[in-house]
Amino acid sequence: MSALIVRALRAGVDGKEILRGVDLEVSSGQVHAVMGPNGSGKSTLAHVIMGGPGYEVYDGSVTLDGVELLGMPTWKRAQAGLFLAMQYPTEVPGVSLADAMAAALAPQGRAPADVADLVATEAVRIGMSTALLERPLNVDLSGGEKKRNETLQLAVLAPKVAILDEIDSGLDVDALKAVSQRVELITNEVGLGVLVITHYSRLLRELRPDVVSVLRNGRVVASGGPELAEELEATGYEGYGETPA
Ligand code: ADP
Ligand code: MG
Repeated sequence: MSALIVRALRAGVDGKEILRGVDLEVSSGQVHAVMGPNGSGKSTLAHVIMGGPGYEVYDGSVTLDGVELLGMPTWKRAQAGLFLAMQYPTEVPGVSLADAMAAALAPQGRAPADVADLVATEAVRIGMSTALLERPLNVDLSGGEKKRNETLQLAVLAPKVAILDEIDSGLDVDALKAVSQRVELITNEVGLGVLVITHYSRLLRELRPDVVSVLRNGRVVASGGPELAEELEATGYEGYGETPA
Protein backbone atom coordinates (compact mmCIF):
# COMPACT_ATOMS: atom_id res chain seq x y z
CA MET A 1 0.00 0.00 0.00
CA SER A 2 1.44 3.36 -1.09
CA ALA A 3 0.37 6.92 -0.40
CA LEU A 4 1.31 10.25 -1.90
CA ILE A 5 0.51 12.97 0.61
CA VAL A 6 0.63 16.70 -0.13
CA ARG A 7 0.41 18.97 2.89
CA ALA A 8 0.10 22.77 3.06
CA LEU A 9 2.08 23.07 -0.15
CA ARG A 10 3.01 26.61 -1.16
CA ALA A 11 5.01 27.06 -4.33
CA GLY A 12 5.47 29.37 -7.29
CA VAL A 13 7.75 30.81 -9.92
CA ASP A 14 10.10 33.78 -9.59
CA GLY A 15 8.75 34.70 -6.17
CA LYS A 16 5.15 34.65 -7.40
CA GLU A 17 3.09 32.30 -5.28
CA ILE A 18 0.86 30.05 -7.40
CA LEU A 19 0.02 27.20 -4.98
CA ARG A 20 -1.23 28.79 -1.78
CA GLY A 21 -1.54 25.91 0.64
CA VAL A 22 -2.61 22.70 -1.12
CA ASP A 23 -3.59 19.55 0.78
CA LEU A 24 -4.46 16.32 -0.98
CA GLU A 25 -3.59 12.67 -1.06
CA VAL A 26 -3.86 9.57 -3.16
CA SER A 27 -3.21 5.98 -2.19
CA SER A 28 -2.79 2.71 -4.06
CA GLY A 29 -5.69 1.73 -6.28
CA GLN A 30 -7.28 5.13 -5.83
CA VAL A 31 -8.08 7.73 -8.48
CA HIS A 32 -8.08 11.32 -7.24
CA ALA A 33 -9.24 13.83 -9.83
CA VAL A 34 -8.09 17.44 -9.63
CA MET A 35 -10.30 19.77 -11.64
CA GLY A 36 -10.25 23.52 -11.98
CA PRO A 37 -10.32 26.41 -14.44
CA ASN A 38 -7.35 27.43 -16.57
CA GLY A 39 -4.64 29.08 -14.54
CA SER A 40 -5.76 27.62 -11.21
CA GLY A 41 -2.37 25.97 -10.68
CA LYS A 42 -3.02 22.38 -11.77
CA SER A 43 0.08 21.97 -13.93
CA THR A 44 2.16 23.83 -11.35
CA LEU A 45 1.01 21.29 -8.76
CA ALA A 46 2.01 18.41 -11.06
CA HIS A 47 5.45 19.90 -11.77
CA VAL A 48 6.16 20.79 -8.14
CA ILE A 49 5.29 17.27 -7.00
CA MET A 50 7.61 15.84 -9.67
CA GLY A 51 10.37 18.39 -9.01
CA GLY A 52 10.26 20.13 -12.36
CA PRO A 53 12.85 22.86 -13.03
CA GLY A 54 12.02 26.52 -12.38
CA TYR A 55 9.53 26.01 -9.55
CA GLU A 56 10.16 27.28 -6.02
CA VAL A 57 8.73 25.63 -2.92
CA TYR A 58 7.99 28.01 -0.05
CA ASP A 59 6.39 25.69 2.47
CA GLY A 60 4.70 22.34 3.04
CA SER A 61 5.58 18.76 2.26
CA VAL A 62 5.10 16.09 -0.38
CA THR A 63 5.74 12.55 0.81
CA LEU A 64 5.55 9.18 -0.88
CA ASP A 65 5.26 6.37 1.65
CA GLY A 66 6.53 8.69 4.36
CA VAL A 67 9.63 9.80 2.44
CA GLU A 68 9.91 13.55 1.81
CA LEU A 69 10.24 14.21 -1.93
CA LEU A 70 10.74 17.97 -1.85
CA GLY A 71 14.41 18.68 -2.44
CA MET A 72 14.98 15.40 -4.29
CA PRO A 73 15.96 15.59 -7.96
CA THR A 74 13.27 14.44 -10.39
CA TRP A 75 15.05 11.18 -11.27
CA LYS A 76 15.09 10.18 -7.61
CA ARG A 77 11.38 10.89 -7.31
CA ALA A 78 10.88 8.67 -10.36
CA GLN A 79 12.95 5.92 -8.76
CA ALA A 80 10.89 6.30 -5.61
CA GLY A 81 7.85 5.36 -7.70
CA LEU A 82 6.37 8.58 -9.04
CA PHE A 83 5.45 9.20 -12.67
CA LEU A 84 4.25 12.35 -14.43
CA ALA A 85 2.48 12.35 -17.77
CA MET A 86 2.94 15.96 -18.82
CA GLN A 87 0.27 18.16 -20.36
CA TYR A 88 2.78 19.02 -23.06
CA PRO A 89 5.12 16.01 -23.44
CA THR A 90 8.71 16.97 -24.16
CA GLU A 91 10.20 16.13 -27.54
CA VAL A 92 13.54 14.35 -27.20
CA PRO A 93 15.39 14.23 -30.52
CA GLY A 94 17.86 11.35 -30.81
CA VAL A 95 16.29 9.15 -28.12
CA SER A 96 13.69 6.54 -29.02
CA LEU A 97 10.94 5.44 -26.67
CA ALA A 98 12.53 1.99 -26.48
CA ASP A 99 15.91 3.52 -25.52
CA ALA A 100 14.32 5.74 -22.89
CA MET A 101 12.44 2.85 -21.31
CA ALA A 102 15.52 0.58 -21.36
CA ALA A 103 17.55 3.32 -19.65
CA ALA A 104 14.85 3.93 -17.04
CA LEU A 105 14.59 0.25 -16.11
CA ALA A 106 18.31 -0.62 -16.31
CA PRO A 107 18.93 0.30 -12.62
CA GLN A 108 16.41 -2.40 -11.69
CA GLY A 109 18.52 -4.91 -13.63
CA ARG A 110 16.03 -5.32 -16.48
CA ALA A 111 17.57 -6.48 -19.75
CA PRO A 112 17.02 -4.15 -22.73
CA ALA A 113 15.54 -6.99 -24.81
CA ASP A 114 12.93 -7.72 -22.13
CA VAL A 115 12.05 -4.05 -21.91
CA ALA A 116 11.71 -3.91 -25.70
CA ASP A 117 9.28 -6.85 -25.58
CA LEU A 118 7.26 -5.14 -22.88
CA VAL A 119 7.17 -1.90 -24.88
CA ALA A 120 5.95 -3.78 -27.95
CA THR A 121 3.22 -5.55 -25.96
CA GLU A 122 2.04 -2.31 -24.40
CA ALA A 123 2.06 -0.54 -27.78
CA VAL A 124 -0.45 -3.09 -29.04
CA ARG A 125 -2.58 -2.72 -25.92
CA ILE A 126 -2.74 1.07 -26.22
CA GLY A 127 -3.25 0.98 -29.99
CA MET A 128 0.02 2.64 -30.92
CA SER A 129 1.70 1.78 -34.18
CA THR A 130 4.94 -0.12 -33.49
CA ALA A 131 6.54 1.97 -36.25
CA LEU A 132 6.48 4.88 -33.79
CA LEU A 133 8.57 3.06 -31.21
CA GLU A 134 11.86 3.64 -33.00
CA ARG A 135 11.12 7.30 -33.76
CA PRO A 136 12.68 10.00 -31.55
CA LEU A 137 10.58 10.42 -28.40
CA ASN A 138 7.52 12.59 -29.11
CA VAL A 139 9.11 14.23 -32.17
CA ASP A 140 6.47 14.90 -34.83
CA LEU A 141 3.84 12.85 -33.03
CA SER A 142 0.23 14.00 -33.12
CA GLY A 143 -1.45 15.08 -29.88
CA GLY A 144 -3.20 11.73 -29.60
CA GLU A 145 -0.02 9.75 -30.33
CA LYS A 146 1.84 11.68 -27.61
CA LYS A 147 -0.81 10.84 -25.03
CA ARG A 148 -0.86 7.17 -26.02
CA ASN A 149 2.91 7.31 -25.76
CA GLU A 150 2.73 8.72 -22.20
CA THR A 151 0.28 5.98 -21.25
CA LEU A 152 2.57 3.34 -22.71
CA GLN A 153 5.45 4.68 -20.60
CA LEU A 154 3.24 4.57 -17.53
CA ALA A 155 2.35 0.93 -18.20
CA VAL A 156 5.99 -0.06 -18.79
CA LEU A 157 7.49 1.84 -15.84
CA ALA A 158 4.81 0.61 -13.39
CA PRO A 159 5.13 3.44 -10.83
CA LYS A 160 3.37 3.48 -7.46
CA VAL A 161 1.64 6.76 -8.17
CA ALA A 162 1.05 8.49 -11.50
CA ILE A 163 0.12 12.11 -12.10
CA LEU A 164 -1.70 12.61 -15.39
CA ASP A 165 -1.85 16.25 -16.44
CA GLU A 166 -4.68 16.68 -18.95
CA ILE A 167 -3.93 13.39 -20.62
CA ASP A 168 -7.30 13.88 -22.34
CA SER A 169 -6.44 17.19 -23.99
CA GLY A 170 -6.38 16.95 -27.77
CA LEU A 171 -7.58 13.36 -27.82
CA ASP A 172 -10.23 12.04 -30.15
CA VAL A 173 -12.87 9.74 -28.72
CA ASP A 174 -11.02 6.51 -29.59
CA ALA A 175 -7.72 7.65 -28.10
CA LEU A 176 -9.51 8.94 -25.00
CA LYS A 177 -11.12 5.57 -24.53
CA ALA A 178 -7.89 3.64 -25.08
CA VAL A 179 -5.94 5.82 -22.65
CA SER A 180 -8.53 5.99 -19.88
CA GLN A 181 -9.36 2.29 -20.03
CA ARG A 182 -5.70 1.30 -19.94
CA VAL A 183 -5.05 3.46 -16.88
CA GLU A 184 -8.21 2.23 -15.15
CA LEU A 185 -7.08 -1.35 -15.72
CA ILE A 186 -3.65 -0.64 -14.20
CA THR A 187 -5.26 0.86 -11.08
CA ASN A 188 -7.36 -2.29 -10.70
CA GLU A 189 -4.70 -4.85 -11.59
CA VAL A 190 -1.64 -3.57 -9.75
CA GLY A 191 -3.10 -0.90 -7.47
CA LEU A 192 -1.61 2.15 -9.17
CA GLY A 193 -2.60 5.37 -7.43
CA VAL A 194 -3.59 8.13 -9.87
CA LEU A 195 -3.76 11.88 -9.52
CA VAL A 196 -5.65 12.82 -12.66
CA ILE A 197 -5.82 16.45 -13.68
CA THR A 198 -8.59 17.29 -16.11
CA HIS A 199 -11.10 19.90 -17.20
CA TYR A 200 -13.67 17.44 -18.36
CA SER A 201 -15.74 14.78 -16.71
CA ARG A 202 -15.80 12.68 -19.91
CA LEU A 203 -12.37 11.26 -19.04
CA LEU A 204 -13.71 10.35 -15.62
CA ARG A 205 -16.48 8.20 -17.06
CA GLU A 206 -13.84 5.59 -17.97
CA LEU A 207 -11.20 6.39 -15.38
CA ARG A 208 -13.51 6.54 -12.42
CA PRO A 209 -12.42 8.79 -9.55
CA ASP A 210 -12.84 7.97 -5.88
CA VAL A 211 -12.25 11.58 -4.91
CA VAL A 212 -12.67 14.83 -6.84
CA SER A 213 -11.00 18.03 -5.69
CA VAL A 214 -11.51 21.47 -7.19
CA LEU A 215 -8.45 23.69 -7.41
CA ARG A 216 -9.03 27.38 -7.74
CA ASN A 217 -6.53 30.17 -7.40
CA GLY A 218 -3.95 27.80 -5.93
CA ARG A 219 -6.17 26.26 -3.27
CA VAL A 220 -8.47 23.26 -2.98
CA VAL A 221 -11.87 24.92 -2.63
CA ALA A 222 -14.11 21.85 -2.78
CA SER A 223 -13.74 18.10 -2.45
CA GLY A 224 -16.22 15.29 -2.93
CA GLY A 225 -17.04 12.05 -4.66
CA PRO A 226 -17.43 11.29 -8.38
CA GLU A 227 -20.74 13.18 -8.52
CA LEU A 228 -18.80 16.43 -8.06
CA ALA A 229 -17.25 15.97 -11.52
CA GLU A 230 -20.66 15.67 -13.17
CA GLU A 231 -21.91 18.64 -11.20
CA LEU A 232 -18.97 20.77 -12.36
CA GLU A 233 -19.63 19.80 -15.97
CA ALA A 234 -23.15 21.18 -15.61
CA THR A 235 -22.49 24.27 -13.50
CA GLY A 236 -18.91 25.28 -14.27
CA TYR A 237 -16.57 26.46 -11.55
CA GLU A 238 -18.39 29.66 -10.64
CA GLY A 239 -20.12 28.24 -7.59
CA TYR A 240 -16.90 26.96 -6.10
CA GLY A 241 -15.61 29.73 -3.89
CA GLU A 242 -13.22 32.07 -5.60
CA THR A 243 -10.69 32.62 -2.85
CA PRO A 244 -9.26 36.11 -2.50
CA ALA A 245 -5.87 36.50 -4.21
P1 ADP B 1 -3.44 25.28 -14.95
O1 ADP B 1 -2.62 24.08 -15.26
O2 ADP B 1 -4.45 25.05 -13.87
O3 ADP B 1 -4.07 25.89 -16.17
P2 ADP B 1 -0.89 26.52 -14.34
O4 ADP B 1 -0.33 25.78 -13.19
O5 ADP B 1 -0.33 26.20 -15.68
O6 ADP B 1 -2.47 26.39 -14.33
O7 ADP B 1 -0.70 28.08 -14.10
C1 ADP B 1 -1.16 28.74 -12.92
C2 ADP B 1 -0.70 30.18 -12.92
O8 ADP B 1 0.71 30.24 -12.77
C3 ADP B 1 -1.00 30.91 -14.21
O9 ADP B 1 -1.35 32.24 -13.88
C4 ADP B 1 0.30 30.85 -14.98
O10 ADP B 1 0.43 31.95 -15.83
C5 ADP B 1 1.33 30.89 -13.87
N1 ADP B 1 2.53 30.14 -14.23
C6 ADP B 1 2.61 28.79 -14.37
N2 ADP B 1 3.86 28.41 -14.72
C7 ADP B 1 4.59 29.56 -14.81
C8 ADP B 1 5.95 29.85 -15.14
N3 ADP B 1 6.81 28.89 -15.45
N4 ADP B 1 6.32 31.16 -15.13
C9 ADP B 1 5.44 32.12 -14.81
N5 ADP B 1 4.15 31.92 -14.49
C10 ADP B 1 3.72 30.66 -14.48
MG1 MG C 1 -2.34 22.95 -16.97
